Amino acid sequence: MLSAKFHTFGCRLNHTETSSMAKSLADAGFSLVEQTNSLADVHVINSCSVTNQAVKKCKQLIRSIKRNDSNAKIVLAGCFAQSHLADAMSVPGVDILLGNVEKFSLADYLKDYAKNSEATKVVDVKKIPAGSFMVNSPPTRLTKTRVNLKIQDGCDFFCSFCIIPFARGRSRSRDIDNLLAEANLLVSKGFRELVLTGVNIGLYQNKGVDFMGLLAFLAKIKGLDRIRISSIEPTTIDESLLEEMADSDSKIVNHLHLPLQSGNDIILRDMRRKYTCHEFLDFTQKAVSMVPNICIGTDVIVGFPSETKDDFAKTYRFLDESPINYFHVFPFSIREGTVAAKIKFKENQAEHKRWAKSLRTLSSQKWRLYYIKYIGEKMKILLEDEVAVNLWRGYSSNYIRVLVAGENLANKICQVEVTNFDDQFNALKGKLV
Ligand code: SF4
Repeated sequence: MLSAKFHTFGCRLNHTETSSMAKSLADAGFSLVEQTNSLADVHVINSCSVTNQAVKKCKQLIRSIKRNDSNAKIVLAGCFAQSHLADAMSVPGVDILLGNVEKFSLADYLKDYAKNSEATKVVDVKKIPAGSFMVNSPPTRLTKTRVNLKIQDGCDFFCSFCIIPFARGRSRSRDIDNLLAEANLLVSKGFRELVLTGVNIGLYQNKGVDFMGLLAFLAKIKGLDRIRISSIEPTTIDESLLEEMADSDSKIVNHLHLPLQSGNDIILRDMRRKYTCHEFLDFTQKAVSMVPNICIGTDVIVGFPSETKDDFAKTYRFLDESPINYFHVFPFSIREGTVAAKIKFKENQAEHKRWAKSLRTLSSQKWRLYYIKYIGEKMKILLEDEVAVNLWRGYSSNYIRVLVAGENLANKICQVEVTNFDDQFNALKGKLV
């Protein structure tokens, strides 16, 4: 029996896809190696090309695998192969190179490769087809209480900095019947929370069902407690989603992650984003007034080429004053082939680093303030894992991490009274009530 080890870079979607790829290899008779630093016959790298850093780390990983075991076979799959084929082909040590569609037939490629007596390099990276898609090897192991459900792939928006439309093609949606079959299967296996995943999931559209229609179908699944929307473009949703979230019986949790990218209209225009700061703020304010206790997170890019000190100061002020509770900060990364790659930088990298640091500090402060508001409150927590003996960690519907003492609480939803903030685990702590 051959062993295979998976290495994943990048976003939640890529991790979800790795689970499907791993399941297909397990079904084909491979043993999966999960421990870090252990050897395997085949190493599969599901790559990311969103930043230069992700590509650099991918190349470093391949070098280190080959250093430890020169006989190991390497499969390089996913976004790096798809969007920068010539560069990916030049990486030494790669045996099989697969694009974002071909990677789902990994087991077949490995079988063919084993028969290939001359062991010549295999390269298969085709243009991503339009139209709906199916997922044939959904992950089925109950490892946690919540699980990602891929509903969509690709993007039509072509923001000026983003390589994703080149790496994952145009927007396309998963076949609704195939999607609901997996959702039902996952719930029957014991998962209580589904996290809807994709590149631009608000564009979901299949057989006359749009994103809101899909939520309605998923909400009907018996035994499912929570539906979480991973990250959604602000222009693809409207108040109807907020109305749905505001309903106390709704399974759609009161948590939104809306990528802002910049709190400055000039930079938003240069980024080719589809909204103004005022529109974004207006929507988040509505969300706060309509949906009790909603948590709102966002992504911000710092160091966009045309961004000046004054532009950044506006973004900082916008985030400071907005009702956003936390932000993920990404330094701008030049991606060849994008419009932004041609824009000249107005500030230097040292300045960009200072900006990123200051925004991360602001995010931590806002996040902590949001958390400590709940001290003394009672919350329903879906408990996931035991972080120390008889100490369980879980999440509220609005994505607050809470610790509680108890026995055998995995996958249980418990009422918890919050008592304090625990610095060691960066979480709230409470007691069962
Ligand atoms: S919406 Fe913009 S940033 Fe998001 S995936 Fe599409 S092109 Fe990239």
